[in-house]
Amino acid sequence: MNLILLGPPGAGKGTQARMLGEAHDLVQLSTGDMLRAAVDAGTKVGKQAKVTMEAGKLVSDDIVIGIISERIDEPDCSTGFILDGFPRTVAQAEALDELLVQKNKKLDVVFEIRVDDERLIKRITGRFTCANCGEGYHEEFRRPEQDGICDKCSGTEFSRRKDDNEETVRSRLTAYHTQTVPLIGYYGNSSRLKSVDGMLEIDSVFKQIEVALTEL
Ligand code: ADP
Ligand code: AMP
Repeated sequence: MNLILLGPPGAGKGTQARMLGEAHDLVQLSTGDMLRAAVDAGTKVGKQAKVTMEAGKLVSDDIVIGIISERIDEPDCSTGFILDGFPRTVAQAEALDELLVQKNKKLDVVFEIRVDDERLIKRITGRFTCANCGEGYHEEFRRPEQDGICDKCSGTEFSRRKDDNEETVRSRLTAYHTQTVPLIGYYGNSSRLKSVDGMLEIDSVFKQIEVALTEL
């Protein structure tokens, strides 16, 4: 099964992708994570993407399409993947459709996770991540069971993203509304789209997705 999680920054795509990945043995493909790894490693792509990411703007279509095209060919993707944060423009969605045809794969469903902008700002500014395993947390909505210790790997180091500040979040939301929202029409027209209420708590969002998957 191959699926897309579509939604604004902070909607819960990464959170749901990790849960779905565990439940259905699917690989999470986050272009944001891949780009951050490239920035940290100082690769050519990382150098090109760094300033754009810090400004909360979208990296060029060519870069992200290239990254995803290579990643989908890896053996671990053969049983299924979850695209988290890709595609983000109509050009990326068209390129993905072409890539999937070339690679003899298909897209089963696109979940749009809907959340109000003001809630997104609260979600993003309170987000932190285990530096060891990448598990995501929130100061208010999802604290580790024991303060300072990751539930998943018992790690004690946590990190915050540089672009998770209110000013950059506002640019990221503008990019979402202008460049990514048209994808709702793109996928809606081909009946591949299912919308879920992302304002609910994490487990309730997950249940909505699970129910929709059983109906496929
Ligand atoms: P995205 O990958 O879409 O940017 P994340 O999955 O990282 O979003 O979620 C953003 C923040 O909001 C994280 O701190 C996460 O723990 C929290 N979060 C995710 N889903 C929910 C939810 N349904 N209710 C409350 N907080 C949530
Ligand atoms: P994310 O981790 O999904 O919030 O993405 C963080 C940043 O990475 C975004 O603000 C963009 O600068 C860049 N990025 C991630 N995915 C894409 C994409 N599909 N297209 C363009 N830029 C992206």
